[in-house]
Amino acid sequence: MEFEPSGKELSHFPFLKKAQDPIRARFVSLGTLLGTSKGEALVSLAVSRIQDAVTPKKTRVPEVSDTPEDEIAAYVLARIIASCVNDKQLIDRLTRYEADRAYYFLVNEEEWNSSYVQEDGEYSRLWTTIADELGIRIAQDRMPVPDYVELVAPLHDDRYRLVNRNVVRGFVTINKNERYELLRERIRVLLRRDLPHRVPKDICELLAPRAAEIKKAYQEQMLRQFGKVEEGAFPPCMQALVSALAAGINLTHAGRFSLTAFLHNIGMDTTGIAELYARSPDFDIEKTMYQVEHITGRGGSSTEYTTPACAAMQTTGLCVHRDPLCEKISHPLSYYKAKKSRPFKPAPTKPQVPDKNLKNS
Ligand code: SF4
Repeated sequence: MEFEPSGKELSHFPFLKKAQDPIRARFVSLGTLLGTSKGEALVSLAVSRIQDAVTPKKTRVPEVSDTPEDEIAAYVLARIIASCVNDKQLIDRLTRYEADRAYYFLVNEEEWNSSYVQEDGEYSRLWTTIADELGIRIAQDRMPVPDYVELVAPLHDDRYRLVNRNVVRGFVTINKNERYELLRERIRVLLRRDLPHRVPKDICELLAPRAAEIKKAYQEQMLRQFGKVEEGAFPPCMQALVSALAAGINLTHAGRFSLTAFLHNIGMDTTGIAELYARSPDFDIEKTMYQVEHITGRGGSSTEYTTPACAAMQTTGLCVHRDPLCEKISHPLSYYKAKKSRPFKPAPTKPQVPDKNLKNS
């Protein structure tokens, strides 16, 4: 007998096809729905969902307080609104939030639902349905090595490294907690892969006031999180770019882009960024302002760029003077956050030679 999740179960895992099919049938035209009071209520639910996603310390236990259909619709709308905002970090946070939420329900699912006995006497649990739909080959206590390796690639936890695992006849042994953690990772990757959606312009226009509200709240959140800009907490790559600027070196496009996006992401305003570039002897105010406004999403395009991750910085030759903290992070913003949260001990000074990769050829 095929397992049929209840409406409430589907609202815990709103990304499932079974969850979304009835919603599509019910809300035929999004444009029409958004003009109704029901649409407004659903958009408000979606906005709360995004606000929960960007709150760093989550104190609320995920729960379904509205009807399952409304919860699922709010999930869909939150992804549409985030696509209209089109900020990479916001989208990352939303997908991580959704994956964490599903993980919470997965872990508790056994308690709530016990098990479902099939005709052949086998037990079918909700997680197996989810795993099937996510296309992940995972059994109660093991998974095939190739699937495992692909799945754990973005995870930084040493316990997931294949050398630390028990492998038996092509299968990696996993425990119950790990099974759910791996499912969470798969959910995160799949939900992230689909975003941003290509949302029709007229729909984004209808959602523009709420999108602006989220953008503002998110920026305030980011500023609170990063606090006062502290140059002493910059990662080595960004310090090298600042030193190169001060030494009068013309930065490559990748260098300028990475530094500007970084400064913007940690909350430095446009004037502050321009002042930093003014340290360069060939400073051109108009050109600098144009570039800064373009990268920070104020120059006509609504796209705000995010600092490249360490892997991308390595590819462009901008990852220089790595230090021990670099081994623990994968993003320059994580470095900055980590360094700011510790008491700052100045590193022993060593003359830094500007790296050739920073320089425009
Ligand atoms: S590892 Fe990351 S943070 Fe450290 S220098 Fe390289 S790019 Fe910068």
